[in-house]
Amino acid sequence: MSVPSKWKIAQHWNESPRREDFAPHLLLDEPCCFACGWFSERWERATAQASWQRANLERAHIIPSSLGGSDDASNLLLLCKPCHQESPDWVDPAQMARWIATREERPSRELETFLAWFAAAEKAPEFKDALASVVAEEGAAERVSELLQDLLGRAGTHFGVGFSQGTRVAVLQAAADEINRRAQQTGWEADESRSVDIQD
Ligand SMILES: [Zn+2]
Repeated sequence: MSVPSKWKIAQHWNESPRREDFAPHLLLDEPCCFACGWFSERWERATAQASWQRANLERAHIIPSSLGGSDDASNLLLLCKPCHQESPDWVDPAQMARWIATREERPSRELETFLAWFAAAEKAPEFKDALASVVAEEGAAERVSELLQDLLGRAGTHFGVGFSQGTRVAVLQAAADEINRRAQQTGWEADESRSVDIQD
């Protein structure tokens, strides 16, 4: 017997009388983790079915296969990676329902990314100061944005995680150094064509 598609699992729980216990965040036209509600705008496709298939969610057994659980949609949930890793592997489904009921809600992938950058800026006060020193200049937002993208292009990523929080802080500090360097040398505005050297 083949494992049901994500779409089939979503449809099953959408109709299930136990939906509130096992998929309290479920909305059929917007894929999300059943347990914490995490979602991404990147999953959006033309149809709900295509969006669910695209969603970066994992099939999680309510009763584990190793304890006799089936691959039927009624025994499968769609969870984000952290939820799947922390969910109980236990023979009594009531424990899964209980775990879901106490699971903290998680913001969207996009909001999480924004909050991570915000937290990184708190740890790189030099960047906030540098930004404040140029923000009134015409086109400053575009130039800072280009600078950050350039620096991010030089940063490494953790496999499957993207930029680490330490990388975000390092990028903001390098950006602050570059903004200050340009401002001191030939002036921030006149220095657009210069390449960025983050080595020094
Ligand atoms: Zn989750």
